[in-house]
Amino acid sequence: MNKGKLLSTLPSVDELLNNEDIIRLLKDIPRKVILEEIRRCIQMERNKILQMQDNELETYKIEVDSLIKSVVFTCCKFMEMNLKEVINGTGVVLHTNLGRALLSDEIKDEVWSVASGYSNLEINVATGKRGSRYSHVVEIIKTITGAEDALVVNNNAAAVLLVLGTMAKNREVIVSRGELVEIGGSFRIPEVMEQSGAKLVDVGATNKTHIWDYEKAIGEETAALLKVHTSNYKILGFTKEVTLIELVELGRKTNIPVVEDLGSGVLINLQKYGLSYEPTVQDSVQAGVDIITFSGDKLLGGPQAGIIIGKKQWIEKMKKNPLTRAFRVDKLTMAALEATLKIYLSEEDAIKKLPTLKMITEGIEEIHKRAITLLNRIEAENLQIDIEINDDYSQVGGGSLPLEKLPTKVLQITSSKLSVNQLEEGLRLYQTPIITRIQDNKLIVDLRTIKERDFIIICEALRSVVI
Ligand SMILES: *Cc1c(COP(=O)(O)O)cnc(C)c1O
Repeated sequence: MNKGKLLSTLPSVDELLNNEDIIRLLKDIPRKVILEEIRRCIQMERNKILQMQDNELETYKIEVDSLIKSVVFTCCKFMEMNLKEVINGTGVVLHTNLGRALLSDEIKDEVWSVASGYSNLEINVATGKRGSRYSHVVEIIKTITGAEDALVVNNNAAAVLLVLGTMAKNREVIVSRGELVEIGGSFRIPEVMEQSGAKLVDVGATNKTHIWDYEKAIGEETAALLKVHTSNYKILGFTKEVTLIELVELGRKTNIPVVEDLGSGVLINLQKYGLSYEPTVQDSVQAGVDIITFSGDKLLGGPQAGIIIGKKQWIEKMKKNPLTRAFRVDKLTMAALEATLKIYLSEEDAIKKLPTLKMITEGIEEIHKRAITLLNRIEAENLQIDIEINDDYSQVGGGSLPLEKLPTKVLQITSSKLSVNQLEEGLRLYQTPIITRIQDNKLIVDLRTIKERDFIIICEALRSVVI
């Protein structure tokens, strides 16, 4: 057959639109999406034919059925949500790439009613006058932390930028060389400082900074003393770090405000639950720090947010900074944050109901039980895989408690049919992606971050991958 003749047998758009599979598809998927995909498929087929050699043309036949199949598949894929739930088998509790803190199931009604209906976001219902969107969380933050006032912005990076830009623009901020933190995603203290218009005065050495280092650097232009919690690394060995108390004392003596970037907003002393000490927000307030910033979606276990607390005079000044408007949070965040913070009114509830705290404090026996249940469920599928339960360590993640190794139980999976890379990829590409890691040529699934309700999906995924 020659090229022209073959091209003339290409189905028309209308022909494909009248195919019964496509008619069925039109019930669920907008015509526009299907039409575009049909045109694209026909064009691709045309291009393929145009590039063929004569000997290929001889035997080539246009397969309308496979064109239809491809249209159906692509259209269904297109309509699926791109952003969707995944199963976290990594054991990293606060996984930034997987969305950090999980919100509590307990707060879904509160968040949804504010999201889907009108709300009193910026109206004072008592007076009928304009209100502040921040007012809804200020009282609860004050109650929990003991701070004088509070403000909430988009994330902690924005909080630090707003604080420095308000308190120290064109002036100097003193910070220890051991605390010039990089968080990732290009958040580095020196760069944030520059962006804010404040001038960085770094003092001391990487491993040792003394109070007199700060003292010596104080001058006419000093606007603040900054302490940055080295949340994602530790300097060990021959070290000296100035304590918060010493720094606050120096601030008082010299009448210079002390600012602290705490990173993770821990509101509960985690030592009680067998973890190492992570400075709590309350400790910083009690020490007398003037302004403290922390994240809403790290150890606090709420939505992405940057929380600024401290002295009213400074918070008032920040509210007038145009950056506050640029960094403002929406009603969904506000609702989720308020509802999450209310859970903290009882520490017992917080540990039980906030997934982040629940997962990092969960005992090994519970995790072991889940591992056994999952192992039995997978074995009942009779797939060609070998599974063993093993001891391992999970991480807190999210740049929090970097040295903490949480003893956990993992499933080690290998298959005689598939390589470990094929297994890992197969699970990751499953409809509900399952994120795992490979270690010593075995697939590792950490049960700490896996819920019982994920088991069905994991079994289905393995069945479809190993088949
Ligand atoms: C995580 C962190 C930040 C950034 O907080 P985001 O909420 O991710 O913007 C800033 N400073 C410190 C010390 C942190 O640990």
